[in-house]
Amino acid sequence: MAKKILVVEDEPKIARIVKDYMENSGYQVSILSHGNDVLPQVQKSMPDLIILDIMLPGKDGMEICREIRKFSTVPIIMLTAKVEEIDRLIGLELGADDYICKPFSPREVVARVKAVLRRAIPEPVSEQLMAGPIVLNQLTHHVSINNEELQLTNSEFELLTVFLEQPERVFSRNDLIAMVQGYDFEGYDRTIDSHIKNLRKKIDQQLPGQKMIQTVYGVGYKFMPPKS
Ligand code: CA
Repeated sequence: MAKKILVVEDEPKIARIVKDYMENSGYQVSILSHGNDVLPQVQKSMPDLIILDIMLPGKDGMEICREIRKFSTVPIIMLTAKVEEIDRLIGLELGADDYICKPFSPREVVARVKAVLRRAIPEPVSEQLMAGPIVLNQLTHHVSINNEELQLTNSEFELLTVFLEQPERVFSRNDLIAMVQGYDFEGYDRTIDSHIKNLRKKIDQQLPGQKMIQTVYGVGYKFMPPKS
């Protein structure tokens, strides 16, 4: 079933482009433009995630976020016009799950929404992800190859989880940065490249020559499960 996303944004152009991108990614999107309409709508429709602009007519986004938190843990991504505001907003502990600074690319919004929803969704019943001899346990954070334990850093573990969840899907570096690191990441492509390089090296020590994590030139990376 499509996840319901509520976009609260009073600039129609921005609201429209976010809606289009989200719908293309398979979400069901509704838009509100006035701050006073948000709480009644959230109580009525119980969205799966809210994208909430801060500057709004009526109640502002910060006040709305605080009020929603009194009765709901629905994931909230705040939109702000100033990058300097983000630190202050985090300090206010509004209870938002993520912050996006304007101007943003709609693709970034989609990646953030996916990442936040991924964190918000309870662990699947089957906590094991497998690809050939690789077994990853999401609850215990253990990875083994042919029953040999593989020692990974947190970032490498998150990357491998993303790859095993969607084998053969091509991920851009930005997708991977958003999924693995979230907003508190500096955002340099090279850092994700070095995590990939280290992960490859560790897998290659156990399974030489398999080349499971493949570079897709000009795009990013994909994981090809070993042929068995
Ligand atoms: Ca606004």
